[in-house]
Amino acid sequence: MSPKPTCAGAERPLAGARWLRAPESRALLDALEAEGKKARFVGGCVRDTLLDPELDPEDLDLATQERPERVLERLGSLGFHVIPTGLKHGTVTVIVGRRRFEVTTLRRDVACFGRHAEVEFSDDFEEDAARRDFTINAMSCDREGYLFDYFGGKQDLFEGKIRFVGDPEQRIREDFLRILRFFRFYARFGRSPPDPGALAACRALAFGLDRLSGERIRGELERLLRAPGAVAALRLMRETEVAARIFPIAPDWERLQELLRLAPEADWLVRLAVLVRGRIDETRARALALRLRLSNRERERLLALLAVDLPDPRAPRAVHERWIYRLGRALWADLLRIAVVEQAEDRALLEARLNELEGFTPPVFPLSGKDLLARGVPSGPRLGRLLEAVRSWWEAEGFRPDRAACLARLEALLKAEDAAAQRQAKG
Ligand code: ATP
Ligand code: MG
Repeated sequence: MSPKPTCAGAERPLAGARWLRAPESRALLDALEAEGKKARFVGGCVRDTLLDPELDPEDLDLATQERPERVLERLGSLGFHVIPTGLKHGTVTVIVGRRRFEVTTLRRDVACFGRHAEVEFSDDFEEDAARRDFTINAMSCDREGYLFDYFGGKQDLFEGKIRFVGDPEQRIREDFLRILRFFRFYARFGRSPPDPGALAACRALAFGLDRLSGERIRGELERLLRAPGAVAALRLMRETEVAARIFPIAPDWERLQELLRLAPEADWLVRLAVLVRGRIDETRARALALRLRLSNRERERLLALLAVDLPDPRAPRAVHERWIYRLGRALWADLLRIAVVEQAEDRALLEARLNELEGFTPPVFPLSGKDLLARGVPSGPRLGRLLEAVRSWWEAEGFRPDRAACLARLEALLKAEDAAAQRQAKG
């Protein structure tokens, strides 16, 4: 007997979802349900497809009544590619074709200390839904596309309401990350006015963010900054004093608003940079990078986005070419986006600059240290200085001088140095 939805208004809004009808999903559901236990899709895929029925995500979450060891054993023996990603928490990853399924055994809370909830496995879908953070994230659907919506998530989703499952304060005390998740989902789905109870709880418990690991904060902040409603969410974060727990200074959300309008393609680190550029020094920028556990590359990128002088969008093409040569195309383009915001220019100018220089590949400087060594200049600061002098000249000449011309320039510099040294010796 197939389970009938226990919630009111039973319907099959997801019956036509591509990912539900996909052969990979059917094969996996067949395998998980082979011995009579039930499995359902949960979380993001259900939520997002209710809003956009055409969606076909490749990352899908499933909840199952089957115990994790049994899932591993059965799927393995049937030839599925299974990875025991978080067996202790009841999660295995299954790769079928181009799709990636996270299969998690249903859980219930027995005790909770911060984020270290003590859980036990269960076969009750509603209990599992009650552990999830927001009503819009707690919906599930079975193989026929029936929606199981125990807490009114669908209505909240369509009304743009981000509502905690249960009491906001209690749910935040269980896991302080939910404060940031609230703002993240508000940025993506929320419409005003936000739930006052949730806001009050976020404000009262904001101190708890200090206890979270950088990786978890970064994960949520990155998704928040990518969302269309990032500015509205940041304003609320300031009002509730949550922002002060994450940012070293009050973030400039008006500038972010301009960036999203003028250069919506800017990625999350550029968005982060405009929030704080000109307001924090290098030490604090490094502290922010450390707090967010940025990779070395991301940290260097952020520092450059905060500290490098902005290119002038109205400068002539030749000057932009030199900037691209010095900075690399990607950093130049990002700084240009920030410049357009700071100088209150318009999108047309930004696009014109980006298009104009799209085909420009910075040339390779024709000399290297070896050429100076070969010429008898010993390695050391003088060698570096001379090489840099020739390079600056070559750049100023629009990268046109070839190797022979650069070598000639080097000779001229060496001669001038010799002459100066002789004058000094005489004098
Ligand atoms: P996205 O598409 O942005 O990844 P998502 O809903 O898949 O959205 P995840 O962070 O990947 O978000 O989490 C998957 C699901 O797990 C959520 O929909 C939610 O049901 C549950 N979940 C994740 N983190 C928490 C948490 N800290 N507290 C409670 N439930 C959570
Ligand atoms: Mg997800």
